[in-house]
Amino acid sequence: MYERLDCHLHTLYLGCANETMTIPAIVREAEKLGLDTIAITDHLNAPEFLDKHFAIKDDIASISTDVNIVFGVEVNVIDKDTGRVSIDEAQKQKLGCEVVIGGVHSSYHDHADPRSIIDLQHKLMLEVVKNPLVDVLVHPWWFPNREFESGVMAWMTDLSLLPDEYVAELGETAAACNTAIEANGTAIFTNTRYYGPAFQEDYKRYLYTLASYGAKIAIGSDAHDIRTVGACQVAGRNVREAGIRPDQLWIPGRR
Ligand SMILES: [Zn+2]
Ligand SMILES: [Zn+2]
Repeated sequence: MYERLDCHLHTLYLGCANETMTIPAIVREAEKLGLDTIAITDHLNAPEFLDKHFAIKDDIASISTDVNIVFGVEVNVIDKDTGRVSIDEAQKQKLGCEVVIGGVHSSYHDHADPRSIIDLQHKLMLEVVKNPLVDVLVHPWWFPNREFESGVMAWMTDLSLLPDEYVAELGETAAACNTAIEANGTAIFTNTRYYGPAFQEDYKRYLYTLASYGAKIAIGSDAHDIRTVGACQVAGRNVREAGIRPDQLWIPGRR
């Protein structure tokens, strides 16, 4: 079960993933890896990109496979003061997507200020989790590479500065709001350049603790290249090793 799910995949359509990420190629790769369920969740950062998602939906409808394919989108926080995300009810209805995953994609800081960065991330992650349109909070504590390189995030080599009460509050809120929290393959578990052994060990405990507060754990590769779809299985293995039970996993369409 842990290694048969990929709930976070990008495609070539939105231009973030590369040309290897066609829907047929993703499905063939899923079949090869023995996955049961995949969710296609390309970026929807603004309404003008809705048309590209209709093309994805058409591709999904026209493919023949035993893999269960779920049509979704990944949204971003677009207002750091309110935590508002880049989809509304009308857009979700129009698109007819089955799942919405989303998260924070910036520290919103230009200098290293751990306390302030942690407080803001926590606040924004809570807003995402409480948003009734969002099914999964993606990649908590992931930050863009440039923020490590610039030094803004260089201090985050483990999760020791993260207050226990923040973890409890996120886990409890996610459980209460029926929002899952993601174990992400390419952003975290195979991204060992910025997330080293100490961080990885802390992160497994972190996910375990969130699950113990009742949050479901989603597994995704976040692949932007066909060669990294298998990162969902690395994430799944880490979730299993963390001691998270099969009934604590999030399965799309089963809430
Ligand atoms: Zn993301
Ligand atoms: Zn993504």
